[in-house]
Amino acid sequence: MKKKVFVISHSHWDREWYMSFEKHRLRLVKLVDEVLDLIDNDPEFNSFQLDGQAIIIDDYLAIRPENKERVDRAIANGKLRVGPFYVLQDDFLISPEAHVKDFQIGRQMSETAGKMMGIGYFPDTFGNMGQTPQMLKLAGLDAVAFGRGVKPTGLNNQVTDGNFESPFSEMKWIGPDKSEVLGILFANWYSNGNEIPVDPTEAKAYWQQKLADVEKYASTDNLLLMNGVDHQPVQKDISQALAVARELFPDYEFIHSNFDEYLAAVKADLPENLSTIEGELTSQETDGWYTLTNTASSRVYLKQKNAAVQRQLINEATQLAAIALPKSDYPQAQLKYAWKVLLENHIHDSITGCSIDPVHREMMTRFEKVAAIAESISDEAQKALVADIRTDQFPEGTLPFVVINPSDIARTGVVTAEVELDRALFKDGRPDEQFAKMQLIAQQNRHYTIIDGKGQAVAGRVTGYTTRFGADLPDDRFRVPYIGVYAQVEVQVHDLAAFGWETFALQLEAQNQRYADQPSESLITDGHILENDYLTVTISQVDGSLTILDKRTHKTYQRMVVIEDTGDMGNEYIYKETADQKRIYSTDQAPRLQIKQDTPEKATVELNSTLQIPKQATDQLAYEQRAVIDITHRQATRSSEMIDLELHLAVTLEADNPTLQFDLTYDNQAMDHRLRVLFPTQLQTDFNESESIFEVVKRNNRPEKYWENPTNPQRQQAFVNLHDDQGGVTVASDGLNEYEILPQDGTIAVTLLRSVGELGDWGYFLTPEAQCQGPQHAHFALIFHGPQTVDRLKSYRLARAFAAPMLAVQTTRHAGQRANMGQWLTIDDPDNAFAVTGVERDADQQLIVRGYNLDSTPHSVQVKSAGVDALVDFQSAPIQRATDSELAPAEIRNYRFKV
Ligand SMILES: [Zn+2]
Repeated sequence: MKKKVFVISHSHWDREWYMSFEKHRLRLVKLVDEVLDLIDNDPEFNSFQLDGQAIIIDDYLAIRPENKERVDRAIANGKLRVGPFYVLQDDFLISPEAHVKDFQIGRQMSETAGKMMGIGYFPDTFGNMGQTPQMLKLAGLDAVAFGRGVKPTGLNNQVTDGNFESPFSEMKWIGPDKSEVLGILFANWYSNGNEIPVDPTEAKAYWQQKLADVEKYASTDNLLLMNGVDHQPVQKDISQALAVARELFPDYEFIHSNFDEYLAAVKADLPENLSTIEGELTSQETDGWYTLTNTASSRVYLKQKNAAVQRQLINEATQLAAIALPKSDYPQAQLKYAWKVLLENHIHDSITGCSIDPVHREMMTRFEKVAAIAESISDEAQKALVADIRTDQFPEGTLPFVVINPSDIARTGVVTAEVELDRALFKDGRPDEQFAKMQLIAQQNRHYTIIDGKGQAVAGRVTGYTTRFGADLPDDRFRVPYIGVYAQVEVQVHDLAAFGWETFALQLEAQNQRYADQPSESLITDGHILENDYLTVTISQVDGSLTILDKRTHKTYQRMVVIEDTGDMGNEYIYKETADQKRIYSTDQAPRLQIKQDTPEKATVELNSTLQIPKQATDQLAYEQRAVIDITHRQATRSSEMIDLELHLAVTLEADNPTLQFDLTYDNQAMDHRLRVLFPTQLQTDFNESESIFEVVKRNNRPEKYWENPTNPQRQQAFVNLHDDQGGVTVASDGLNEYEILPQDGTIAVTLLRSVGELGDWGYFLTPEAQCQGPQHAHFALIFHGPQTVDRLKSYRLARAFAAPMLAVQTTRHAGQRANMGQWLTIDDPDNAFAVTGVERDADQQLIVRGYNLDSTPHSVQVKSAGVDALVDFQSAPIQRATDSELAPAEIRNYRFKV
């Protein structure tokens, strides 16, 4: 049998990177023009593979709408191979729901015109998530091609000693739930058949080399040659080049082909002795320098904005529209459009923050667009929900409002609401007169009590009043402008149900009844100790570090919450500490403490400290950048010129709430440096757990033996945890995707900011905006837990909820179909194992509830809603499992409720 050489024409299309999107796109239009011509003119041209991302079709047709039929025909004839994704995403920095939308939209676009390319495609992703096998299965795929994360050792080295090595480019890849797919590694990169010579002499040398390279790793007689690379123009004489090859190497069969044919051939021939790799592939068995993990801390502002926009779109707009709007009003098309715009930001050179400044400026505009859509949909859904909730039990004259918990766990805490007390319409008087009228009400210093649905006073207060312009935009008539006067209200809720709501009302009181039955105790002692039933937090007046007693486990954590500043002479991809290794800590001086809030429900103490840090790196760094010196060979240090970095760290503890919250604000005027927050837990453990995509991943605290990089950065979604058999600490954060475990003292280090001045990679591209100058903020929290798994899992659920605040919506007194307190979804999950990632309606307007098992053991879970439930895949196709069966280890589950 002849060996078969499958040559696949493609171009890896980074949509925006070292040039702006539009500059890259103009080149893309040329490429697709040429591909379409080639398809028309060369009958031997099998097909062109559109890089796994259907967005190329949108980008092309936006410029050449007249070619839509040609494109559709090429897809229908299998000449253009489209999908399976909408974009080539980053794996770790986007939400699980974003991955699902990427699958769904990619499939929809591919199948509108023809057939989807039948392989998961991650050529350039910066590491691969552990749940890839299960996610691909749920997307109807059983094979994946990828470029990074596994070391190919070659046929002559059959014995492997690592978990992330394979002698072959083909391997079995198993996820944490034991789902298995066929993995195809681009062992010689996705360019191993690029620019094939037509000249026989050149072709002979070319093929001798390329065939030897590919045969070194191939497990079958089917050899894969990728004809293309980053932004590569199509090779127009490919048919001629293959004809020459056939002449020169008659022992091989050269086929211009595509992934579907290649996969079918490989699958039929696979040997028994394929290696098995398990879980995430993050270049664990390398020297650690080129994992590109530090893209998780490049341009942190992008990550924070992404977290906020995803929350608005997923938890608020999509979920509330799914449960509150009539099925026929569910904004399917609007949400799909919002996702398409957001996914543009989720590409592996975009959300990673490793492009030039104009690329990331355009991303911020896209985020704004998606936020605007999400806000509109969410507002409409909230209005519909509260209109349906009964509030007529409140006395006449009271002002009802509804607190909504969009998260999957019951919440206790302080919620801020804004309640309109009165309004004066422009049609009834001059705006300035109306403003004065409303201002008078604000100045009256009225006294209010907050009551619950039973008419009982609850803990809370009005913290202030504002008067301002507003306007109603009715659906059926002209806008109605007015001046409104508003009370800012803080109310404490207790165990507000997951996916639930509770009604409250503001009730005007006579002056002498003010807060009559409210406790007056404070959570603060001596101006520096915060205490509730769960924690005692002592702020050191000497160095500002925190000593935290977990009252449930009686364990004390010392010197917690230290801010660290170090130099960074790396780039957008890689952190490299400056050669001086000068490190500055917030504990180097005494803080100035200020009580910001002191009520029975909530205490906030602000620590203000001034760090003296170097202004930037020396000129040596500028030279090393211009001379394109690899980061591992750089010698730059930080300058001796120092500037002040004023840190304002607000520490907040609420009554009855185990979550200790932190808000850090500062104005970054330094360059070439990194800021982290350190939590030295002193826990001596070998593993940490953190949230990845549909997975709580367990990672070694110490890297493998090959590791040379002095740092070992990792990526997270909502949390990272360290624990031993006595209990542990979960650090929750909002849009902070990078952490590192320093095993010596069990420190969890979370990166707050990384300021660097260049892109890096293959050339010299300055990126002054990656220095992230100006006002910055960070929002994170600590949650402690005891030895029980159920308690640890609860800390994970609370950490995920930390970034999904409760909402408060004012309403009128009215009757309603829904009780004054309730839930739109009930989840019976005694072990806290099932984390819900999304609630939405599918293409048939049926309710979908998606989530995953936070644990690696089975748990019992039941999700209840109206309708008949079934388990489905990402396309809403039924899968063969009962909904009442146990949630399997690391299972991703989609419930579909058919009404
Ligand atoms: Zn790429």
